[in-house]
Amino acid sequence: MTRKLIFAANWKMNKGPHETEDFIKSFVSNIKGEDLTCEVVIAPPFVSLSKLNDLLHEGNHGIQISAQNCSQFDAGAYTGEISALMLRELHVKHVILGHSERRSIYGESDEVINAKLTKALENNLKPIFCIGETLEEREGGKLEGVLRTQVTDGLKGISDRELAEVVIAYEPVWAIGTGVTATTEQAQEAHAFVRSLIADLYGEDAAAKIRIQYGGSVKPGNSGELMACPDIDGALIGGASLDAQSFFEVIKNGLVD
Ligand code: PEP
Repeated sequence: MTRKLIFAANWKMNKGPHETEDFIKSFVSNIKGEDLTCEVVIAPPFVSLSKLNDLLHEGNHGIQISAQNCSQFDAGAYTGEISALMLRELHVKHVILGHSERRSIYGESDEVINAKLTKALENNLKPIFCIGETLEEREGGKLEGVLRTQVTDGLKGISDRELAEVVIAYEPVWAIGTGVTATTEQAQEAHAFVRSLIADLYGEDAAAKIRIQYGGSVKPGNSGELMACPDIDGALIGGASLDAQSFFEVIKNGLVD
């Protein structure tokens, strides 16, 4: 089964509309003339989504837009929140849900993440569903238990048809923004385990089709070896996606067999 690699830039709370414009100008000149055989997604902060849409629309560059979060509710008295429907209006295609920063800083539980996944899918947004263990959990022998709970509870009630729209991002928390990347063995082992969880829940065919990105200090120097792992289908990239040249090199190096 060949799965198309998907590289997604998670800019977190970086780059307002002006910096977004600067980035896109450079990035577009990087990818010009390149036949990138993968999907490329950029997730800027909410305030830059509209600008990004305008910029990409001008040149039809094949880059897809993602949000970094959405509400689990439709509309109403939820100060500071953004609905999935509003994101669709801005031509947003994906939404990152369950990121470890949302889990740890904003206390999002598997139940909340499940409600957000459900709402996103109802509104035709494709979730990039993040899971991953802390160092303490890994060292305490809890890796598989943590991933099982996150996958099972996060995907509760999600149908086979809806699952086809989901990309999973395995992001060991200890590797996010730390400069420490999981070894290819650690990453491959976790990805194969996540795929086996999907097989248990949705069957072998769905498991063979679902894309599982790796995230955690991916950079130009390690994307090639990570993407060569049989169960790694792309990357979710934080720090190294903030610079157009470096994001381009992560993608380019990841596409080399
Ligand atoms: C992330 O925030 O999803 C991430 C993987 O960050 P970084 O690449 O900086 O580790």
